[in-house]
Amino acid sequence: MSLDATVVCVWLMSGFDRPLHYRLPSSMEEQAEPGSLVRVPLGRRQTIGLVVEKDCEPDLPLMQLKLVLELVYPVPVMTPALLRLGSWLRQYYGASIQNVLETMIPGPVRQGMKAKQEKYVSAVKSVESEVLAALEKKAPKQFELYQFIAGQFRPQKKSLVLSRLSASPAAYTGLLKKGLILEEARKVERVAYDDELGDVEYATKQEIVLNEEQAACYESIAESVRAGKFTTHLLYGVTGSGKTEVYIAAMEEALKAGKSVLFLVPEVALTPQTVGRLRSRFTEHKDAHAVVWHSSLSDGERLDAWMALANGTARVVVGARSAVFAPLRNLGLVIVDEEHEPAFKQDETPRYHGRDVAVYRSFLENVVCVLGSATPSLESYRNVKRGKYKLDTLTKRIDDRELPMMHVVDMRIEMMRTRKPVTISTLLAEKLRDRWEKGEQSILFINRRGYNSTMLCTECGHVEECKHCSVPMTFHRSDNTLKCHLCGHEADPPWKCPECNSGAIRGKGSGTQRIEDVVKSILPRANVVRIDTDTMGKKHLFREILGDFRKGKIDLLVGTQMIAKGLDFPNVTLVGMVDADLSLHVPDFRANERTFQLLVQVSGRAGRGDLAGEVVVQTFTPHAEPIQFARRGEVDAFLEVEIESREQFQYPPFRHLVRQVFRSRNADKAVFFAEQFARKVEARMAGKIEMRGPTPCAVEKMKDQYRFHIWYFTQNVSGLMRELKAVEAEVPLPKDVVQIFDVDPMSVS
Ligand code: ADP
Ligand code: ZN
Ligand code: ZN
Repeated sequence: MSLDATVVCVWLMSGFDRPLHYRLPSSMEEQAEPGSLVRVPLGRRQTIGLVVEKDCEPDLPLMQLKLVLELVYPVPVMTPALLRLGSWLRQYYGASIQNVLETMIPGPVRQGMKAKQEKYVSAVKSVESEVLAALEKKAPKQFELYQFIAGQFRPQKKSLVLSRLSASPAAYTGLLKKGLILEEARKVERVAYDDELGDVEYATKQEIVLNEEQAACYESIAESVRAGKFTTHLLYGVTGSGKTEVYIAAMEEALKAGKSVLFLVPEVALTPQTVGRLRSRFTEHKDAHAVVWHSSLSDGERLDAWMALANGTARVVVGARSAVFAPLRNLGLVIVDEEHEPAFKQDETPRYHGRDVAVYRSFLENVVCVLGSATPSLESYRNVKRGKYKLDTLTKRIDDRELPMMHVVDMRIEMMRTRKPVTISTLLAEKLRDRWEKGEQSILFINRRGYNSTMLCTECGHVEECKHCSVPMTFHRSDNTLKCHLCGHEADPPWKCPECNSGAIRGKGSGTQRIEDVVKSILPRANVVRIDTDTMGKKHLFREILGDFRKGKIDLLVGTQMIAKGLDFPNVTLVGMVDADLSLHVPDFRANERTFQLLVQVSGRAGRGDLAGEVVVQTFTPHAEPIQFARRGEVDAFLEVEIESREQFQYPPFRHLVRQVFRSRNADKAVFFAEQFARKVEARMAGKIEMRGPTPCAVEKMKDQYRFHIWYFTQNVSGLMRELKAVEAEVPLPKDVVQIFDVDPMSVS
């Protein structure tokens, strides 16, 4: 063996948490690069791995290194910057190599799925007539099949031909053997973008000329794009101020320079209008093929899309958080729309935040990152104040449209007046009627699906809880069941109280289903449609409903806030927030921020056309800060007050939080190991770490598992995670206890 054999360092897909070294056979020396997928031997098995380094120092004598067996794809599936991003993910989020690979590389690619080949068939033309006559006599089925194939203008898919004629495979094979037809394998191009996604109707619009403010924001971003250095811009623009047009102009700047663009949205399915607009602009650019990356792509589409990016055919990706790992080459611009959205946070290990990863990737690639929002996160706001991010502001709505007027209804007074529980206040009911009479549209938001939030015994106060989770069950009237929104468990509603036998069981609290009912009783002749995850089970229903809403076939939409993202309907002049308190009175330091963002985003759906909009917010705590600031439309003032209180308590963004959860079916075991872990950490980092717990999680039992958490506060996440991983190695857990790290958690329950 020659001494200059190339050694590669490989991350394996199959659970090894350290890199292994392999030798490259000389046939692969040129082609295998960092980012290439390779098939390698592991013991007596074979597995797929990712080359993370080439020409590295082997940890064994060369002779003992095994040879790489095969290059899975001719092009690397990850770029050098993505490899570095992977190492960072591993460190920062405390993830294993396998976690990182599974997160960054889509399944079909990781498993080495091959591009699809389909057999095409054509007839041999110059067949003598006697041969055909003989065939007709002796094998009429073959003859019939031959005639059909010969009659086609170009080669046809074999599968299609067989199914159309219901011809037998035997007849086909017969023809093949006789040399009367020819077969060829062709690679099938699956379309990587889904025409059914995205609100196309909405997209076909007139040419747009940026207004003065938009142009200034665009110039500021374009200047950074031209400079080609890592710079993060916060595009802070009120709802309806035309942020998307600024993104599009900036994207064109990057594409013009031959660069590629990554565009992240909180959820593709929920932002059909944004996606539709981008698609219509960028799928036209023949040289800048756009890929829409979303969860309902088939495996084949996923593979093709990934490869189109890896080999540079596609230069634009629009997608939800996992698109942040798209193998774009020559990246020039990264955009994160609605950067404040909690949906960017992944809720499985590694629990990464799409926005944070996007910023870090931009840093690694030395490119421009634009974060856009009408209600920036405290994290981004602080980075502006610290001078880390550039601020570009859009203060006015397009065509100087007014921001909607917000009325806050004090539900305590409402209840005192009517002496009974109220779902829709007099004011909101009046305004709903008024809009309907005028032929204008309204949207009502309530952040809870189902009919009632709880089934309560009015005698003893017993609440029906899920038997697997420590949360109340929600009543769904459509199928007359109680459902657990955490684990999906279903049960029949009780006839009598299991505690006191009383029959006085009542539903309490309203969900979307009940609001739909109440509204239908207020506006019996209006067309009211409900839209939430329950109605969205059916594919395309969401898009259809939005289409009908735009055409004016629907008068009033009732939905959870999840549907509010980026909707732009000019005829909506009233938005109601049925219960603003749902997100407010929860034990979470982000409750104020979340509530404020919801109120502003939701009211941003009103008055986007020529008619002015109004918002009605119902609450039992009208003086709460987020409600008052939202009412006055004072985003800056809210951010100032909120950041002060965060600083006072040294909550994020002033320090990072790491949450560690221990769970087990056996509560005692979960506590025991959590405490053991905490003691080890204390001993190891004596006095150098601030931590709290273990304590029971707010939702103590979930899916039959008891849960306890420890909280760590730090300025240096990677440093802390290194220590915690070391402790993890010292505290082996039994099989029935699981622990997970959540760095920068968005949920504290
Ligand atoms: P935002 O994302 O800030 O809420 P959008 O980008 O959705 O705002 O823009 C709101 C509406 O204004 C859209 O219908 C968009 O097509 C339109 N719009 C944006 N910029 C312009 C412009 N310069 N001239 C005319 N219409 C515009
Ligand atoms: Zn009872
Ligand atoms: Zn449950």
